[in-house]
Amino acid sequence: MSLKARAREKVERAGISNYMFDHDILVMCGVRYTIAACDCGEPDCDGVKLERSAAMVGRVLQ
Ligand SMILES: [Zn+2]
Repeated sequence: MSLKARAREKVERAGISNYMFDHDILVMCGVRYTIAACDCGEPDCDGVKLERSAAMVGRVLQ
């Protein structure tokens, strides 16, 4: 399963339906998250982590 598919599962499991994908970026409530593989090894880990991305904020305001 691709990272993107795992991220989608993770979000939907959390009960969030207001999200979209911008290429490989997950956007929830206007906040962009980078999708990354997680290798923490926790038994209940779904193998994906979402990292909040602030990279675009400045540009949006210009
Ligand atoms: Zn993990």
